[in-house]
Amino acid sequence: MKKHAIIPIFISHRGCPHDCVFCNQRKITSRNGDITPQMAEETINQWLTTLDNVETVEISFYGGSFTGLPLEEQNQFLKIAKKYKDLGKINLIHLSTRPDYINLKILENLKNYSVDVIELGVQSFDETVLEASGRGHNAKVIYEACRLVKAYGFTLGIQLMVGLPEDDLEKDIFSAKETVKLNPEIARLYPTVTIADTELYEMYLRGDYKPLEAEDAILRTKEMYKILHKAGINIIRVGLKSSEIMSDEIGFHPAFRQLIEGRIARDEIEDQIKKLYYPNHTFNVKIIANEKSFGNIFGHKAENRKYFSSKYAQLNFSYYKDFQLGLSLEDEEYLVQADFAPEKLGGLK
Ligand code: SF4
Repeated sequence: MKKHAIIPIFISHRGCPHDCVFCNQRKITSRNGDITPQMAEETINQWLTTLDNVETVEISFYGGSFTGLPLEEQNQFLKIAKKYKDLGKINLIHLSTRPDYINLKILENLKNYSVDVIELGVQSFDETVLEASGRGHNAKVIYEACRLVKAYGFTLGIQLMVGLPEDDLEKDIFSAKETVKLNPEIARLYPTVTIADTELYEMYLRGDYKPLEAEDAILRTKEMYKILHKAGINIIRVGLKSSEIMSDEIGFHPAFRQLIEGRIARDEIEDQIKKLYYPNHTFNVKIIANEKSFGNIFGHKAENRKYFSSKYAQLNFSYYKDFQLGLSLEDEEYLVQADFAPEKLGGLK
């Protein structure tokens, strides 16, 4: 049985009068037109015909800022979603919005329509990053919105971006730590992609913005991931999907989550190796992992294997699945126990 299915309803830029420098949704909307409640219902019906034997089905209003729509219009969409929830055809109603479009009246209304999950596009907790990214609100608004969402009993999601203008590793770590303090159930991490037709792209052309180098994006996202994961937050997404973007956009990597999880596995293995390691001393390292972890142990395109064999050239590495745990160790052989299945690192949604 499939565990979780999402019926996506893309609301685009309609609910949002802002112009965040990285956002191209206004252009997408002008190209593709707006979705109407009728179209949303057709989408739901189409998806439901394909979803058999799924444990949890969720209608998700994403893109734009749902609660920035006029209340009447929000309610037209919510009424449809609630109808399917009341019929038992879906289990959860999920939406994303901006922190400054959360207030008591909005939350009361979402409660009345049985909304379950509210994700806030926080992006950063640093004031200079928020300002330089054109977010249009300060960090205080974020703390208050998160507090209210939790106080009303919704599942809280926080989306963070890495590598916005004025951002750096220290600020990213600060944002991850502030996220932990606010205790969301779920989070998403997005390295900034510089998309054509955005202000960010213009800034890049003018030399006012330098897109993140791939290694820097990996390092920062990995450190944020570790902080969120350690706090028990379910990281439901890392990086954009290739279906959401043109694959040649600056900063886009199609397998970003695998890269991050592989690097976390690498760090953990290396921590263990360092405890065994004496320069110029040769010995065998047996790395044992469960079968599901092997993808992360080897890393994206087997980069971890190459990394270990070149950085620790005098060590001999061999890899075993954990049904071979009864392996005996000879002299000069050491065991590194590794267990980094993707499920352990925050879900596969
Ligand atoms: S709040 Fe969201 S939809 Fe609005 S401009 Fe910013 S990124 Fe785009």
